[in-house]
Amino acid sequence: MISSKYTIREQNQAKLLREIIQSQEISRADLAQVTGLNKASVSEIIKDLLEQHFIFETRIGNASTVGGRKPILLTFNKCAATVISIDLGPDYIEGMFAYIDGTVICSISKKEIFICQKNVLSLLREVIETMMKKQPVTPHGIVGIALAIHGIVFENEIRFTPYYDLDQMNLQQQLSELFHLPVYLENEANLAALGEYTFISQADNLLSISVHSGIGAGIVQDGVLITGKNGEAGEIGHSILYPDGKLCPCGNHGCLEQYASHQALYKKIKEQLNLDIVNSDIVQEFYRKQHPVIQDLIHENVHLLSIGINNAIMAFSPEVIVINSSIYRKIPGLIAAIKKNLPSRFAKENIIRNTLLDDKAILYGGFALVAQAFLNIQNLKLTLEQAQ
Ligand SMILES: [Zn+2]
Repeated sequence: MISSKYTIREQNQAKLLREIIQSQEISRADLAQVTGLNKASVSEIIKDLLEQHFIFETRIGNASTVGGRKPILLTFNKCAATVISIDLGPDYIEGMFAYIDGTVICSISKKEIFICQKNVLSLLREVIETMMKKQPVTPHGIVGIALAIHGIVFENEIRFTPYYDLDQMNLQQQLSELFHLPVYLENEANLAALGEYTFISQADNLLSISVHSGIGAGIVQDGVLITGKNGEAGEIGHSILYPDGKLCPCGNHGCLEQYASHQALYKKIKEQLNLDIVNSDIVQEFYRKQHPVIQDLIHENVHLLSIGINNAIMAFSPEVIVINSSIYRKIPGLIAAIKKNLPSRFAKENIIRNTLLDDKAILYGGFALVAQAFLNIQNLKLTLEQAQ
């Protein structure tokens, strides 16, 4: 469970709760058997969990083959609490409000806005307050706000944001003072990985590669999000593709994301086709019509990105690689092209797929982050009941 700062009893409580969540329905006797805890401890902890409305008794189960009393089955109370998750992009805000199990209550989206220090707090406040108006009555109410940052985050502190100027802000403190709620900041690629691990993947080791303004990888190893010493783990967008290449906002030259991010791709398309606005829908449409310039630029993107993905695979040896990109999601065949282009034969043996959380992987990761903290369960797995 999460860490040794919790008492043995709290750790046992988390162990039982995790088992109840995984099992859907389980009796006290079976809980004792699968966790190895004695029946008296199980009964005591279950009493607490019932009182705190984390679980409830559903129905009478079947007696065991050796006879005896029929057991009462226990189930997780998916409506015990609610969670707010926000993806704060350089030019958009997406918010979702959900029950503690990720069942969505409402969502909100603001696009084509340019986030900066001056407007970020008022925009976030507006988004959060709008969602809060839909708050249902639950035993624990809202138990946390997760905020996805497109940049480096370490222990809730924004360290480096190349595509908006938020790196001097203490957004966690400002938001928690405003709403009197726990606020958790995390890098967006890390949250996408956590969303995939918690809600979708059976794998304990996965890599989620986010391609948006920049390129980042979220790493889950043995069910735990790896963030590194300063939150810099998985910053594959700043791995060097060309040693004497283009200057990157990080200060280095030739970083992968200066060539293979969506921002880099859109910039080239704008220049070559003389367009003012380019987005993934426009790229998809041009590609579908077999526009030669777009086709060439997409194939170049596949080639460059596959080098970055190849190197990430060789560094982390994941079971699954999940791609989180609007372009790779919208244009069929690009994932297969990435796989074909991977230079290393070792890398080719991996499973590579698009995210199954559509464009909401980051937001689901936010739900997972808050649920882990609130329930004190690190390797939490939840079942997605309402895909958005
Ligand atoms: Zn860089």
